[in-house]
Amino acid sequence: MLVSATEALKKAKEGKYAIGQFNINNLEWTKAILLTAEECKSPVILGVSEGAAKYMCGFKTVADMVKAMVESLNITVPVILHLDHGSYDGAKAAIGAGFSSVMFDGSHYGIEENIEKTKEIIALAKANGISVEAEVGAIGGEEDGVVGSGEVADPAECKLIADLGVDILAAGIGNIHGKYPANWAGLNFDVLAEIEKATSPMPLVLHGGTGIPTDMIKKAISLGVSKINVNTECQLSFAAAVRKYIEEGKDLEGKGFDPRKLLAPGVEAIKATVKEKMELFGSINKA
Ligand SMILES: [Zn+2]
Repeated sequence: MLVSATEALKKAKEGKYAIGQFNINNLEWTKAILLTAEECKSPVILGVSEGAAKYMCGFKTVADMVKAMVESLNITVPVILHLDHGSYDGAKAAIGAGFSSVMFDGSHYGIEENIEKTKEIIALAKANGISVEAEVGAIGGEEDGVVGSGEVADPAECKLIADLGVDILAAGIGNIHGKYPANWAGLNFDVLAEIEKATSPMPLVLHGGTGIPTDMIKKAISLGVSKINVNTECQLSFAAAVRKYIEEGKDLEGKGFDPRKLLAPGVEAIKATVKEKMELFGSINKA
């Protein structure tokens, strides 16, 4: 069964740990993350971008696959199926298809329009018993072709959006999507503390979790971050493991070309990455 993120993130915030959002791209990704969450007895958020949903043949295919997998793998930990960086139309479609949580990313609208559209999505989500994440101040880097430039959110705008009734708030604090550049200035903890003060007890989200040093992650959690998005890191570890398998010529030995064998090292690499993150975020044994 899928659950909304509200209760799990409330517990995370109170318990001073964070729940990882791991983006999925296909069956292997989903299976690897679900099995690791169960093994670690950790709640888990499966993130799906609109591009990934399109790749997997639409929101309904994704929702049905995840629900069936939770059942067939006997997953007992809380699983949240979350639309990542949803557009206005995408959020509505994901709610209709059975997602248990949606992010409405209205950060590219002006604050007035962001508020109006966020309100509409909240009303629709509440009617369906699911949670809503909103974003204030674009997160830099690139996600599905949407490029931003490492902004820092205005705490007053964060409060405006938080007060609309969203369940989770993403605010830019200098974090970016993808690999961090060598000259990255780091997270802005002063702004994070101000946002936390203005919006408490709202669970806050840290996007672009790949490549942020562990001490900064821990400090962010201590300051109110309860959800951390991890995407690129699983992609990098998957690619490196499959590359190694092929470079060692294993696909040429026996039935090594069988996709179930060829992709197996990638699946194991995702599992290791997810487990490492769950340990860092403190979510193990919190299910
Ligand atoms: Zn993001």
